[in-house]
Amino acid sequence: MLKKSVILIMMVLLSAGLVFAEGQKDGSGDQGYIGVAMPTQSSQRWIQDGGNMKEQLEALGYKVDLQYAEDIVENQVSQLENMITKGVDVMVIASIDGEALSNVLAMAADNDIPVIAYDRLIRGTPNLTYYATFDNFKVGVQQGAYIEMALGLDKGEKGPFNIELFGGSPDDNNAYFFYDGAMSVLQPYIDSGVLVIQSGQTGMDKVATLRWDGATAQARMDNLLTAYYADGEMLDAILSPYDGISIGVLSSVKNIGYGTPGQPLPVITGQDAELPSVKSIIAGEQTHTVFKDTRELARVAVGMVEAILKGGEPEINDNKTYDNGVKVVPSYLLEPVSVDVTNYEEVLVGSGYYTADQLK
Ligand code: BGC
Repeated sequence: MLKKSVILIMMVLLSAGLVFAEGQKDGSGDQGYIGVAMPTQSSQRWIQDGGNMKEQLEALGYKVDLQYAEDIVENQVSQLENMITKGVDVMVIASIDGEALSNVLAMAADNDIPVIAYDRLIRGTPNLTYYATFDNFKVGVQQGAYIEMALGLDKGEKGPFNIELFGGSPDDNNAYFFYDGAMSVLQPYIDSGVLVIQSGQTGMDKVATLRWDGATAQARMDNLLTAYYADGEMLDAILSPYDGISIGVLSSVKNIGYGTPGQPLPVITGQDAELPSVKSIIAGEQTHTVFKDTRELARVAVGMVEAILKGGEPEINDNKTYDNGVKVVPSYLLEPVSVDVTNYEEVLVGSGYYTADQLK
Protein backbone atom coordinates (compact mmCIF):
# COMPACT_ATOMS: atom_id res chain seq x y z
CA MET A 1 0.00 0.00 0.00
CA LEU A 2 2.71 2.37 1.09
CA LYS A 3 4.66 1.41 -2.00
CA LYS A 4 1.70 2.19 -4.24
CA SER A 5 1.19 5.70 -2.88
CA VAL A 6 4.90 6.44 -3.14
CA ILE A 7 4.78 5.40 -6.78
CA LEU A 8 1.68 7.53 -7.31
CA ILE A 9 3.32 10.58 -5.76
CA MET A 10 6.40 10.01 -7.87
CA MET A 11 4.28 9.80 -11.01
CA VAL A 12 2.49 13.03 -10.19
CA LEU A 13 5.79 14.79 -9.52
CA LEU A 14 7.26 13.41 -12.69
CA SER A 15 4.43 14.58 -14.91
CA ALA A 16 4.44 17.99 -13.22
CA GLY A 17 8.15 18.13 -13.98
CA LEU A 18 7.51 17.24 -17.60
CA VAL A 19 4.86 19.92 -17.96
CA PHE A 20 7.30 22.42 -16.41
CA ALA A 21 10.05 21.34 -18.74
CA GLU A 22 7.66 21.68 -21.71
CA GLY A 23 6.77 25.20 -20.58
CA GLN A 24 10.47 26.02 -20.52
CA LYS A 25 11.06 24.71 -23.98
CA ASP A 26 8.18 26.06 -25.99
CA GLY A 27 8.55 29.78 -25.43
CA SER A 28 5.03 29.74 -24.02
CA GLY A 29 5.50 33.24 -22.75
CA ASP A 30 4.81 32.35 -19.11
CA GLN A 31 7.81 34.40 -18.14
CA GLY A 32 7.18 37.40 -20.40
CA TYR A 33 7.22 38.70 -23.94
CA ILE A 34 10.49 40.02 -25.38
CA GLY A 35 11.00 42.04 -28.55
CA VAL A 36 14.33 41.42 -30.26
CA ALA A 37 15.25 43.82 -33.09
CA MET A 38 18.19 42.91 -35.30
CA PRO A 39 19.65 45.02 -38.14
CA THR A 40 19.92 42.69 -41.12
CA GLN A 41 20.01 39.13 -42.38
CA SER A 42 22.55 40.06 -45.04
CA SER A 43 25.35 39.29 -42.60
CA GLN A 44 25.67 35.89 -41.01
CA ARG A 45 26.61 37.17 -37.58
CA TRP A 46 23.23 38.85 -37.04
CA ILE A 47 21.38 35.72 -38.08
CA GLN A 48 23.31 33.89 -35.39
CA ASP A 49 22.67 36.66 -32.86
CA GLY A 50 18.93 36.59 -33.50
CA GLY A 51 18.83 32.79 -33.42
CA ASN A 52 20.78 32.62 -30.16
CA MET A 53 18.60 35.22 -28.47
CA LYS A 54 15.39 33.49 -29.51
CA GLU A 55 16.62 30.06 -28.49
CA GLN A 56 17.95 31.14 -25.11
CA LEU A 57 14.90 33.24 -24.23
CA GLU A 58 12.45 30.55 -25.28
CA ALA A 59 14.33 27.98 -23.22
CA LEU A 60 13.59 30.17 -20.20
CA GLY A 61 9.87 30.37 -21.00
CA TYR A 62 9.74 33.73 -22.76
CA LYS A 63 7.80 34.46 -25.90
CA VAL A 64 9.96 36.22 -28.50
CA ASP A 65 9.17 38.63 -31.30
CA LEU A 66 12.34 38.55 -33.45
CA GLN A 67 12.53 41.12 -36.27
CA TYR A 68 15.12 41.96 -38.90
CA ALA A 69 15.03 45.34 -40.65
CA GLU A 70 17.34 44.67 -43.63
CA ASP A 71 19.42 47.73 -42.77
CA ILE A 72 16.54 50.14 -43.38
CA VAL A 73 16.21 52.51 -40.44
CA GLU A 74 12.51 53.24 -41.02
CA ASN A 75 11.77 49.49 -40.98
CA GLN A 76 13.44 49.12 -37.64
CA VAL A 77 11.56 52.07 -36.17
CA SER A 78 8.22 50.65 -37.27
CA GLN A 79 9.15 47.19 -36.01
CA LEU A 80 9.86 48.73 -32.62
CA GLU A 81 6.56 50.64 -32.71
CA ASN A 82 4.79 47.35 -33.42
CA MET A 83 6.51 45.66 -30.50
CA ILE A 84 5.35 48.47 -28.23
CA THR A 85 1.79 48.10 -29.53
CA LYS A 86 1.91 44.34 -28.99
CA GLY A 87 2.87 44.98 -25.38
CA VAL A 88 6.32 43.43 -25.08
CA ASP A 89 7.87 43.56 -21.59
CA VAL A 90 11.44 44.37 -22.68
CA MET A 91 13.05 45.30 -26.00
CA VAL A 92 16.54 44.18 -26.99
CA ILE A 93 17.83 46.23 -29.91
CA ALA A 94 20.83 45.99 -32.22
CA SER A 95 20.35 49.33 -33.94
CA ILE A 96 21.00 50.23 -37.55
CA ASP A 97 21.43 53.95 -36.97
CA GLY A 98 22.29 54.44 -33.31
CA GLU A 99 21.14 58.07 -33.45
CA ALA A 100 17.71 57.45 -34.93
CA LEU A 101 15.75 55.78 -32.13
CA SER A 102 15.17 58.59 -29.60
CA ASN A 103 11.50 59.08 -30.47
CA VAL A 104 10.54 55.43 -30.52
CA LEU A 105 12.42 54.85 -27.26
CA ALA A 106 10.53 57.75 -25.69
CA MET A 107 7.37 55.92 -26.72
CA ALA A 108 8.75 52.73 -25.11
CA ALA A 109 9.44 54.64 -21.91
CA ASP A 110 5.87 56.02 -21.88
CA ASN A 111 4.73 52.39 -21.99
CA ASP A 112 7.19 51.32 -19.25
CA ILE A 113 9.16 49.10 -21.59
CA PRO A 114 12.85 48.93 -20.63
CA VAL A 115 15.39 48.73 -23.45
CA ILE A 116 18.69 46.88 -23.71
CA ALA A 117 21.19 47.90 -26.41
CA TYR A 118 22.59 44.80 -28.06
CA ASP A 119 26.14 45.03 -29.41
CA ARG A 120 25.66 48.60 -30.71
CA LEU A 121 25.13 51.57 -28.41
CA ILE A 122 21.93 53.58 -28.90
CA ARG A 123 22.79 57.23 -28.62
CA GLY A 124 21.02 60.42 -27.60
CA THR A 125 18.39 58.88 -25.33
CA PRO A 126 17.92 58.56 -21.58
CA ASN A 127 15.68 55.53 -22.20
CA LEU A 128 18.29 52.82 -22.19
CA THR A 129 18.79 50.47 -19.25
CA TYR A 130 21.79 48.31 -20.14
CA TYR A 131 24.28 47.68 -22.92
CA ALA A 132 25.65 44.22 -23.79
CA THR A 133 28.65 44.27 -26.13
CA PHE A 134 32.28 43.35 -26.69
CA ASP A 135 35.34 45.40 -25.88
CA ASN A 136 35.05 47.34 -29.11
CA PHE A 137 38.25 49.36 -28.71
CA LYS A 138 40.11 46.09 -28.22
CA VAL A 139 38.64 44.72 -31.47
CA GLY A 140 40.35 47.61 -33.26
CA VAL A 141 43.57 47.09 -31.33
CA GLN A 142 43.57 43.44 -32.42
CA GLN A 143 43.12 44.47 -36.06
CA GLY A 144 45.92 47.04 -35.87
CA ALA A 145 48.19 44.67 -33.95
CA TYR A 146 47.65 41.99 -36.55
CA ILE A 147 48.93 44.28 -39.30
CA GLU A 148 51.84 45.29 -37.07
CA MET A 149 52.74 41.63 -36.53
CA ALA A 150 52.14 40.45 -40.10
CA LEU A 151 54.38 43.16 -41.59
CA GLY A 152 57.00 42.58 -38.89
CA LEU A 153 56.77 46.18 -37.65
CA ASP A 154 57.05 44.98 -34.06
CA LYS A 155 60.33 43.30 -35.05
CA GLY A 156 61.72 46.52 -36.47
CA GLU A 157 60.85 46.16 -40.19
CA LYS A 158 60.99 49.63 -41.65
CA GLY A 159 59.23 49.12 -44.99
CA PRO A 160 58.00 51.53 -46.01
CA PHE A 161 54.76 49.59 -46.45
CA ASN A 162 51.66 50.87 -48.23
CA ILE A 163 48.38 50.62 -46.37
CA GLU A 164 44.81 51.80 -46.99
CA LEU A 165 42.23 52.22 -44.25
CA PHE A 166 38.57 51.24 -44.18
CA GLY A 167 36.11 52.18 -41.44
CA GLY A 168 32.67 50.91 -40.52
CA SER A 169 29.33 52.68 -40.78
CA PRO A 170 29.42 56.28 -39.57
CA ASP A 171 26.04 55.88 -37.83
CA ASP A 172 27.32 52.96 -35.74
CA ASN A 173 29.06 53.99 -32.53
CA ASN A 174 31.17 50.82 -32.67
CA ALA A 175 32.81 51.91 -35.91
CA TYR A 176 34.63 54.75 -34.12
CA PHE A 177 35.85 52.43 -31.37
CA PHE A 178 37.20 49.95 -33.94
CA TYR A 179 38.92 52.71 -35.90
CA ASP A 180 40.39 54.40 -32.83
CA GLY A 181 41.59 51.06 -31.45
CA ALA A 182 43.33 50.17 -34.70
CA MET A 183 44.86 53.63 -35.06
CA SER A 184 46.20 53.46 -31.51
CA VAL A 185 48.56 50.79 -32.90
CA LEU A 186 49.05 52.05 -36.48
CA GLN A 187 49.34 55.83 -36.06
CA PRO A 188 52.93 55.83 -34.69
CA TYR A 189 54.07 53.84 -37.75
CA ILE A 190 52.23 56.26 -40.04
CA ASP A 191 53.83 59.21 -38.25
CA SER A 192 57.31 57.73 -38.63
CA GLY A 193 56.80 56.89 -42.31
CA VAL A 194 57.02 53.10 -41.91
CA LEU A 195 53.39 52.87 -43.02
CA VAL A 196 52.40 55.04 -45.97
CA ILE A 197 48.82 55.80 -47.01
CA GLN A 198 49.25 56.62 -50.70
CA SER A 199 45.72 58.04 -50.91
CA GLY A 200 46.25 60.20 -47.84
CA GLN A 201 42.74 59.20 -46.74
CA THR A 202 42.55 58.91 -42.97
CA GLY A 203 39.89 59.70 -40.38
CA MET A 204 36.40 58.28 -40.17
CA ASP A 205 35.03 61.19 -42.22
CA LYS A 206 37.06 59.87 -45.19
CA VAL A 207 37.28 56.10 -44.68
CA ALA A 208 33.84 55.16 -43.30
CA THR A 209 31.66 52.64 -45.17
CA LEU A 210 27.93 53.38 -44.93
CA ARG A 211 25.95 50.38 -43.56
CA TRP A 212 29.15 48.29 -43.57
CA ASP A 213 28.40 47.51 -47.20
CA GLY A 214 30.96 45.27 -48.92
CA ALA A 215 30.08 46.55 -52.40
CA THR A 216 30.56 50.16 -51.28
CA ALA A 217 33.98 49.25 -49.89
CA GLN A 218 34.89 47.36 -53.04
CA ALA A 219 34.02 50.40 -55.18
CA ARG A 220 36.15 52.66 -52.98
CA MET A 221 39.04 50.18 -53.18
CA ASP A 222 38.73 50.09 -56.99
CA ASN A 223 39.00 53.87 -57.06
CA LEU A 224 41.99 53.94 -54.73
CA LEU A 225 43.81 51.33 -56.80
CA THR A 226 43.22 53.25 -60.01
CA ALA A 227 44.13 56.61 -58.56
CA TYR A 228 47.13 55.73 -56.38
CA TYR A 229 48.50 52.31 -57.29
CA ALA A 230 48.46 52.27 -61.09
CA ASP A 231 52.13 53.26 -61.41
CA GLY A 232 53.53 50.10 -59.84
CA GLU A 233 53.08 50.98 -56.16
CA MET A 234 52.18 47.78 -54.27
CA LEU A 235 49.57 47.64 -51.55
CA ASP A 236 50.87 45.75 -48.50
CA ALA A 237 47.97 45.97 -46.04
CA ILE A 238 44.32 46.92 -45.77
CA LEU A 239 42.72 47.75 -42.46
CA SER A 240 39.21 46.33 -42.74
CA PRO A 241 36.83 46.49 -39.78
CA TYR A 242 34.39 43.75 -40.84
CA ASP A 243 34.46 40.51 -42.85
CA GLY A 244 31.89 41.70 -45.41
CA ILE A 245 34.16 44.66 -46.20
CA SER A 246 37.22 42.37 -46.25
CA ILE A 247 35.62 40.15 -48.89
CA GLY A 248 34.74 43.26 -50.94
CA VAL A 249 38.25 44.72 -50.91
CA LEU A 250 39.74 41.28 -51.52
CA SER A 251 37.76 40.99 -54.77
CA SER A 252 38.96 44.42 -55.76
CA VAL A 253 42.68 43.62 -55.35
CA LYS A 254 42.29 40.18 -56.94
CA ASN A 255 40.59 41.76 -59.95
CA ILE A 256 43.71 43.76 -60.75
CA GLY A 257 46.09 40.85 -60.35
CA TYR A 258 47.04 40.54 -56.70
CA GLY A 259 47.37 36.99 -55.44
CA THR A 260 50.36 35.72 -57.41
CA PRO A 261 53.93 35.08 -56.19
CA GLY A 262 55.09 38.28 -57.90
CA GLN A 263 52.20 40.31 -56.52
CA PRO A 264 51.08 38.75 -53.22
CA LEU A 265 47.80 39.72 -51.61
CA PRO A 266 47.98 42.46 -49.01
CA VAL A 267 47.36 41.66 -45.35
CA ILE A 268 43.60 42.06 -44.85
CA THR A 269 42.00 42.17 -41.40
CA GLY A 270 38.35 41.54 -40.57
CA GLN A 271 35.78 40.91 -37.89
CA ASP A 272 33.01 38.43 -36.98
CA ALA A 273 34.56 35.17 -38.23
CA GLU A 274 31.79 34.84 -40.81
CA LEU A 275 31.89 31.61 -42.80
CA PRO A 276 32.97 33.05 -46.19
CA SER A 277 35.83 34.85 -44.44
CA VAL A 278 36.96 31.86 -42.41
CA LYS A 279 37.00 29.83 -45.62
CA SER A 280 38.94 32.63 -47.31
CA ILE A 281 41.47 32.59 -44.46
CA ILE A 282 41.88 28.83 -44.84
CA ALA A 283 42.41 29.37 -48.58
CA GLY A 284 45.17 31.90 -47.82
CA GLU A 285 43.32 35.01 -49.05
CA GLN A 286 41.77 37.12 -46.25
CA THR A 287 44.42 37.14 -43.53
CA HIS A 288 42.66 37.77 -40.27
CA THR A 289 39.36 38.14 -38.47
CA VAL A 290 38.14 38.86 -34.95
CA PHE A 291 35.89 36.25 -33.40
CA LYS A 292 33.12 37.52 -31.16
CA ASP A 293 31.12 34.67 -29.66
CA THR A 294 27.49 35.62 -30.30
CA ARG A 295 26.34 32.80 -27.99
CA GLU A 296 28.03 34.60 -25.12
CA LEU A 297 26.62 37.98 -26.12
CA ALA A 298 23.11 36.51 -26.13
CA ARG A 299 23.73 34.92 -22.74
CA VAL A 300 24.72 38.31 -21.27
CA ALA A 301 21.75 40.10 -22.88
CA VAL A 302 19.34 37.41 -21.66
CA GLY A 303 20.80 37.82 -18.16
CA MET A 304 19.98 41.54 -18.39
CA VAL A 305 16.38 40.73 -19.41
CA GLU A 306 16.07 38.40 -16.43
CA ALA A 307 17.49 41.00 -14.05
CA ILE A 308 14.98 43.58 -15.28
CA LEU A 309 11.95 41.30 -15.07
CA LYS A 310 12.85 39.17 -12.05
CA GLY A 311 15.16 41.37 -10.03
CA GLY A 312 18.72 40.57 -9.16
CA GLU A 313 21.92 41.98 -10.54
CA PRO A 314 22.85 41.68 -14.20
CA GLU A 315 26.47 41.14 -15.22
CA ILE A 316 27.99 44.62 -15.55
CA ASN A 317 31.74 45.17 -15.87
CA ASP A 318 31.95 48.69 -17.27
CA ASN A 319 30.40 51.85 -15.93
CA LYS A 320 32.48 54.45 -17.72
CA THR A 321 33.16 53.78 -21.40
CA TYR A 322 29.79 54.05 -23.08
CA ASP A 323 28.44 57.57 -22.75
CA ASN A 324 25.56 57.84 -25.22
CA GLY A 325 25.47 61.61 -25.09
CA VAL A 326 22.81 61.66 -22.37
CA LYS A 327 24.18 59.21 -19.84
CA VAL A 328 26.80 56.57 -19.24
CA VAL A 329 25.11 53.24 -19.89
CA PRO A 330 25.97 50.33 -17.55
CA SER A 331 27.61 47.79 -19.84
CA TYR A 332 29.03 44.33 -20.05
CA LEU A 333 32.02 43.99 -22.38
CA LEU A 334 32.97 40.54 -23.64
CA GLU A 335 36.44 39.66 -24.91
CA PRO A 336 37.10 39.49 -28.67
CA VAL A 337 39.58 36.90 -29.98
CA SER A 338 42.04 37.53 -32.82
CA VAL A 339 41.93 34.72 -35.39
CA ASP A 340 44.09 33.72 -38.35
CA VAL A 341 45.06 30.52 -40.11
CA THR A 342 47.15 29.39 -37.14
CA ASN A 343 44.35 29.29 -34.56
CA TYR A 344 41.00 29.19 -36.37
CA GLU A 345 40.58 25.49 -35.71
CA GLU A 346 41.20 25.71 -32.00
CA VAL A 347 39.09 28.86 -31.54
CA LEU A 348 36.18 28.27 -33.91
CA VAL A 349 35.88 24.51 -34.15
CA GLY A 350 37.25 23.83 -30.66
CA SER A 351 34.58 26.05 -29.08
CA GLY A 352 31.82 24.37 -31.11
CA TYR A 353 31.00 27.62 -32.90
CA TYR A 354 31.45 25.86 -36.25
CA THR A 355 31.79 22.21 -37.14
CA ALA A 356 34.82 21.18 -39.18
CA ASP A 357 32.38 20.31 -41.99
CA GLN A 358 31.02 23.85 -42.18
CA LEU A 359 34.52 25.12 -42.94
CA LYS A 360 35.02 22.83 -45.94
C1 BGC B 1 29.42 44.95 -34.96
C2 BGC B 1 30.39 44.14 -35.75
C3 BGC B 1 29.91 43.99 -37.17
C4 BGC B 1 29.43 45.29 -37.76
C5 BGC B 1 28.78 45.08 -39.09
C6 BGC B 1 29.14 46.24 -35.65
O1 BGC B 1 28.30 47.02 -34.90
O2 BGC B 1 29.94 45.18 -33.65
O3 BGC B 1 30.56 42.86 -35.16
O4 BGC B 1 30.98 43.52 -37.95
O5 BGC B 1 28.56 45.93 -36.90
O6 BGC B 1 27.64 44.29 -38.97
